[in-house]
Amino acid sequence: MIRILVVEDEQRVAELLQRGLEETGYQVSLAYDGQMGLRLFRSGEYQLVISDIILPKMDGFELCKEIRQINTKIPILMLTALGTTDDKLEGFDAGADDYMVKPFDFRELDARIRVLLKRRNPEATDNKPKELTYADLKIDLFRKSVYRGEQEIHLSPKEYNLLVYMAENPERVLSRMEIADKVWNTHFDTGTNFIDVYINYLRKKIDKNFPVKLIHTKPGMGFIFKIEG
Ligand code: CA
Repeated sequence: MIRILVVEDEQRVAELLQRGLEETGYQVSLAYDGQMGLRLFRSGEYQLVISDIILPKMDGFELCKEIRQINTKIPILMLTALGTTDDKLEGFDAGADDYMVKPFDFRELDARIRVLLKRRNPEATDNKPKELTYADLKIDLFRKSVYRGEQEIHLSPKEYNLLVYMAENPERVLSRMEIADKVWNTHFDTGTNFIDVYINYLRKKIDKNFPVKLIHTKPGMGFIFKIEG
């Protein structure tokens, strides 16, 4: 579900926008002033922002700049009743991606939203690959599914994260500290034993029934992901 933050102080326009966008299939959060807009933006996850320019407490340009400091990629579409060139330039200067003059035709707005989402989203989910492959191991990063050859292997979320990290860093010794930090996002001074436990779970699923082993222990150092028969 795509979530859109709408910042508009004219209640009638805000409600029209909300209804139109929700009917189109978007999820909408409404803010009636710039500060509330920024607060909502900080506390939620949105894929697009639509903001009026003249707003109480913090205007649309200011809001746009604040949002850009937090997120450089989210598409921002500005609305204005004025429609002067100066407004437009200042909007782009503040980091807006597009601009519409009120009153606008909803279908036109919807078309612009589609363009913005399409333009930004392939980049936002970003140059990241869809798939990781190594030997006959294949990880589909979108579906979070794992295969060796044709056989699908079911992993728990933690096993999956561990495997992805190893497959992203093949042929390099990964210390327990590094794995704890990068996969579990924690720093363990002691008790990294749980990593060995997960490595063992993973081995049973990934390597045990296959001739080519991928996960290897480097005694005293950590683990290495590489091809070894
Ligand atoms: Ca306004």
